[in-house]
Amino acid sequence: MSAGEPTPRHAADARACTLGVLGGGQLGRMFVHAAQVHGYRVVVLEPDAASPAGAAADLHLRAPYNDATSLTALASRCGAVTTEFENVPAAALRGLMASCVVSPPADAVEVCQHRAREKQLFTAAGVPCAPYAVIDSLPAAQDPGHSALLPGILKTARLGYDGKGQVVVARSAELASAFAALGSVPCVLEKRLHLAHEISVIIARGRDGQWVHLPVQQNLHRGGILAVTQVPAPDVPAHVAEQAVALAGRLALRLQYVGVLCVEFFVLTDATLVANEMAPRPHNSGHYSIDACDVSQFDLQLRTLADLPLVQPRQHSAAVMLNLLGELWPAEGSPGAASPDWPAVLALPGAHLHLYGKTDPRRGRKMGHLTITAASPGAARAVARQAASLLGLPEF
Ligand code: ADP
Ligand code: MG
Repeated sequence: MSAGEPTPRHAADARACTLGVLGGGQLGRMFVHAAQVHGYRVVVLEPDAASPAGAAADLHLRAPYNDATSLTALASRCGAVTTEFENVPAAALRGLMASCVVSPPADAVEVCQHRAREKQLFTAAGVPCAPYAVIDSLPAAQDPGHSALLPGILKTARLGYDGKGQVVVARSAELASAFAALGSVPCVLEKRLHLAHEISVIIARGRDGQWVHLPVQQNLHRGGILAVTQVPAPDVPAHVAEQAVALAGRLALRLQYVGVLCVEFFVLTDATLVANEMAPRPHNSGHYSIDACDVSQFDLQLRTLADLPLVQPRQHSAAVMLNLLGELWPAEGSPGAASPDWPAVLALPGAHLHLYGKTDPRRGRKMGHLTITAASPGAARAVARQAASLLGLPEF
């Protein structure tokens, strides 16, 4: 059999054993790996030539996400298409739905693309969220009626990530300048809450409405960017974790969701849960599942996309994940910069190093992650602390 042919497992129908991904980042790369392990071929549509997913894919279509010719090519080659990036144009997903299976559904992705729509969904589903107001004009930003939301955080309704597109607003007088600083685009002003902890829930829902979930993750952010994920969540009582899973399931039902959905929650000091935001895809906080669970979040994405059975994942090892951002590279900003001391990190027991093949380390850029697995949470934490110290990361 030549290299270009489908694997025997799926040889009957080349299109059925080829899956498509819109977006070319590290989430797509890890999906490609999971799909290829199961014998699928993967086509990635991503404009950037230097694409972590494109480099791993069987075929990389280099074109904008809304390029009609490339979308037609994707639909003709693939039995099913997913996304690894929530800001793909919903119209592109909708167009693909005419000729192939698409998950998650375009409508659900559209809700997740817009913070105000997301909060409307939380409210409609009876899921608590932070008090907020829509700020979509200068008069709205000048309205003194928003003082009850201060101190607050003004967030652009669209395209924010890793704390980008956010400004802390302490007083009413600062709101108009914050709105201007964010480009006078539609925003939401959210009350700043006192967070005891942050957690996330990753669920996978199939076409038949059945769903499963990963264990609840506890997340530490630094500067608005995920830094550390611990599973099991050390500070979250079981009943709070169960409640978070139930709320995530309720949101997925409401969205008639098919695919992997992540819901981020704040845990307040009185153990109340507040939904923060959703991602219509696997999530950085779920990367540990590759090494610590018998079914990873990318396996779940594959199973929902290809309509394969969903089984409840089992976490077989305690895990701590450390994000590896560009500033860890000694000569950050220069292509081909020297690497951190990976041999020292890999000498630690239970160390699983994942690098995304990005050649240009920049401050805040996600270059890879390190998962430490161990027989107990305490052991995983102890080794992860050693790894953090070796890498020069702050203590956690
Ligand atoms: P992003 O899309 O950048 O992840 P988030 O809305 O999740 O945006 O905000 C990033 C981080 O900022 C959160 O994980 C949390 O640490 C902090 N944050 C966001 N909103 C609030 C809030 N209302 N109160 C307190 N902290 C917040
Ligand atoms: Mg977030």
